[in-house]
Amino acid sequence: MSGITIALSKGRIFEETLPLLAAAGITPTDDPEKSRKLIIGTNRPDVQLVIVRASDTPTYVQYGAADMGIAGRDVLIEHGGAGLYQPLDLNIARCRVCVAVRKGFDYARASQPGSRIRVATKYTKIAREHFASTGVHVDLIKLYGSMELAPLVGLSDAIVDLVSTGNTLRANNLEAVEDITTISSRLVVNQAALKVKRALLQPVIDAFAGAVTP
Ligand code: AMP
Repeated sequence: MSGITIALSKGRIFEETLPLLAAAGITPTDDPEKSRKLIIGTNRPDVQLVIVRASDTPTYVQYGAADMGIAGRDVLIEHGGAGLYQPLDLNIARCRVCVAVRKGFDYARASQPGSRIRVATKYTKIAREHFASTGVHVDLIKLYGSMELAPLVGLSDAIVDLVSTGNTLRANNLEAVEDITTISSRLVVNQAALKVKRALLQPVIDAFAGAVTP
């Protein structure tokens, strides 16, 4: 395509990206929450959006199937960021990555240096690096969703997950016991596309930069 393709995921990232797109003069012609279309047009004939799973955004951009995309720092850390130019922290979809346990679980005791705990998470790289830095041996159990269930049914002692309001943890009788890092979403751009399509991409990057709220 001679125009530009932007990869976005449904939900919070899509909604919080709409004002940034508007600042770049881009309005989607469909709502991905209502439409089943995976390729969504915009008011600009040279701009299309592709709706992908959040953890797939860096992959689409890395291979140039999308010229740019918006992905959480959690997803970018797990992906590794190869082939991606990351010019902007968009300060959207903010949350924290936390260690959480069942209420009443003695985490201080279980996480003493040299001890061993079972941790269920989608974020194995973040979890591995965190526990390596605190000196706790961990048996990591990879999950793809609903991490909150794992400590409730004895699959793990703890989880590493994203926490925003804390409502999901509270509803499941869990509590955050350690903050690992803060997360927000970033603009990622395919490095080759930036060279070849700079005339199209740079104004969008600049408009996004001007619309970021601190
Ligand atoms: P909350 O109940 O507001 O603390 O939100 C927690 C749930 O929403 C967890 O299942 C998280 O995986 C998910 N979540 C929270 N913030 C984000 C985010 N910025 N991006 C993706 N998922 C999120």
